[in-house]
Amino acid sequence: MQEEGIDSQELSGSSEISRREVLVTLGVLGGAVAAGAAGWGLLEAMVALRQPVESWHKSVCRFCGTGCGVMVGMKDGRVVDVRGDELAHNKGVICIKGSMLPELVRIPGRLTYPKIRKNGSLVDASWDEAMALVASKFSESIREFGPDSVAFYGSGQLFTEESYTANKLFKAGIRTNNVDGNPRLCMASAASGYVQTFGKDEPPGCYADADYADCFFIFGANPYECHPPIFERIRQRKRLRPDTVIICVDPRRTMTAQHSDIHLAVVPGTDLLLLNSMANVICEEGLANQEFIGNHVRFSDGEKDCDFAKFREFLRAYAPEKVEAELGVSARDIRRVAFIFARSAATMSLWTMGANQRTQGTFLNNTLNSLHLITGQICRPGATPFSVTGQPNACGGVRDTGALSHSLPNGRLVANPEHRAQMEKLWKVPEGTISPRVGYDAVSLFRALEEGSVKAALILCTNPGTTMPAAGRYQSAMEKCFTVVADVVEDSETQRHAQVVLPAALWIEKEGVTGQGERRYQLTEKLLTPPGQARSDLQILVDLADRLGHGGLITARSPEAVWDEWRNISASSFYNFQGITYARLKKERGLQWPCPTPESPGTARRYVEGEDPFVAKGAGVEFYGNHDKKAVVYLRPYVPSPEKATAEFPIYLTTGRILEQFHTGTLTDRIQPLHDAGGPAMIHINPQDAFVLGIQDKDAVEVKSKYGTVRGEAKLSNATRVGAVFASFYDAKLLINRAVADNFDPTSKEPEYKVTAVSVRRVAT
Ligand code: SF4
Repeated sequence: MQEEGIDSQELSGSSEISRREVLVTLGVLGGAVAAGAAGWGLLEAMVALRQPVESWHKSVCRFCGTGCGVMVGMKDGRVVDVRGDELAHNKGVICIKGSMLPELVRIPGRLTYPKIRKNGSLVDASWDEAMALVASKFSESIREFGPDSVAFYGSGQLFTEESYTANKLFKAGIRTNNVDGNPRLCMASAASGYVQTFGKDEPPGCYADADYADCFFIFGANPYECHPPIFERIRQRKRLRPDTVIICVDPRRTMTAQHSDIHLAVVPGTDLLLLNSMANVICEEGLANQEFIGNHVRFSDGEKDCDFAKFREFLRAYAPEKVEAELGVSARDIRRVAFIFARSAATMSLWTMGANQRTQGTFLNNTLNSLHLITGQICRPGATPFSVTGQPNACGGVRDTGALSHSLPNGRLVANPEHRAQMEKLWKVPEGTISPRVGYDAVSLFRALEEGSVKAALILCTNPGTTMPAAGRYQSAMEKCFTVVADVVEDSETQRHAQVVLPAALWIEKEGVTGQGERRYQLTEKLLTPPGQARSDLQILVDLADRLGHGGLITARSPEAVWDEWRNISASSFYNFQGITYARLKKERGLQWPCPTPESPGTARRYVEGEDPFVAKGAGVEFYGNHDKKAVVYLRPYVPSPEKATAEFPIYLTTGRILEQFHTGTLTDRIQPLHDAGGPAMIHINPQDAFVLGIQDKDAVEVKSKYGTVRGEAKLSNATRVGAVFASFYDAKLLINRAVADNFDPTSKEPEYKVTAVSVRRVAT
């Protein structure tokens, strides 16, 4: 979901820089450094919480898409410690959130009983009572209004087995494609970008590419705070090769920007100008790799194929001198960065929500891929376009299983009759079962709740009451529908608008596979019993399937049985991971697909002969996802965001994450040391803007847009660009998403959280 974030006092005082450095470093080195770092509140708390360990168990961090391998220390049936696993891809490195995993299973406010809304209040109920009500409302709606009157809204934090089962139940059982989830809000543009360019979703490279790159092009991402082990790997490369260049493109001077060699502080919403301008420099200055282009690249204007000459002509409108004013970056810096990108021995691009959460998100992703293709900076160690993901299982759980409204498993599409027929055969359901109608994507789904065309919705493991853009509008929409939500803690914004709330198991209270951002599947084993009557989301789905009469379809009922069904289905695709069994995952530290056989070591780099089993012998590089085995470079014109600053709304609002909190804070904000360290979310504003607006540090301020109004505390920060404000979305008290625009990319349908025109004013407390 939304990324980035920073405590912006880092620019104003060295003590604050040190504090956050230590917080990241603590996580980076795990508990080992805690004793030496004592004196800092959070570190002291962490040390105090640790106890002697009886046994260590291999596991996976519950939080972000880095998917860090961790070792969980147990004693007397309790989690007492955690450390990064040196044998995992994160090489023993974890961040401060991962360091607090032992506290996660003890957070206050766990949901332990199902609840049903009666007379306006949620009251305890039995599972049977709650599920009978859910099933009757779903059945009634399907009977009266058809299958498309119900919907499933899932999460990149469910286990793969859960997302797979929900997708199968709704698409092949209930027969609706109204299956979507919160990954639509964070990485849908990355997926559509990869699919359009390479014919297949998911990154071609891997985290290990950071060990070989000489240029890092970090675009709209803040890995220093949001993916610390990845940024630590980048810094390690820089320590070993000091001439390595780190470039950061971000409107804000984030901690990542501060630790980069070059920071390009673009005007919010204009950065496709930068990418096209870099492409212009590369083409005009003879930096393009014509041999690679000739062998592996096709050009397209989006409708028909064209050639390099047409691409070059298209880019003339983006000459550095023509775009520098609107972009906010000098022509000299554009040229400099283009030269470094193209001439480096190996360039690795990393991007997250700054590129994805945009009305031109797909175009930005296409063009990031294109820069690598025209320079040949791809399919070599260190040379790769890498979309870093935000959630632990958005890739493996949702993208790969096709648990989105337009997709089917392993890259198949709802709109493609052959793909539907393939899945009907694999799922052993009658021909014509899968609806040809593309279902509702996230924003459309909540609009459908609002207008009443969807009458019952099941929401698992996510909190759309906080995460949806224009959140106030969609909170009300949930009340117009029979909304059911399963969650691990009480009292989320979503639950306040739900009719039934179900208690769910958390992390190691259940078992399942997650697939992180580099196509690596890892197993989380069950180590604890869920509290009270909490159940896994898989148990909830199986129960619902039985009650709706689809028990004969959902025959796999244990996590391993579901996984076996799913991996066998993958064998019919380029995702083939039939060789990744539970038995291997228990022994090995995660495996990257494709991995077709029990002997296969997995695939670190796709499309490369000798690594990827689908590349023909002698081909070298083969983009086999496309019919001609060539990747596509698109001509993607820049279109300004619909959110242009005006006299009424003269400032850009941008949102993201901070180091100490994950997403809407339902978990991390209940861990006291993280809550204390993160503090309340504030409105970060540049001192120059604050001076003009008569705002001082800690003043109460109002942020107003066309979509909503929020009030919070001002925090003056030089990290925030003049003409822009920043707020993190983890804090339900601020609930900044009330003010965020619900414009979205027409292809990926991902909302533009990063650009909203707002006004800011001081208000009385
Ligand atoms: Fe790793 Fe992310 Fe967990 Fe931090 S939150 S330990 S970076 S998986």
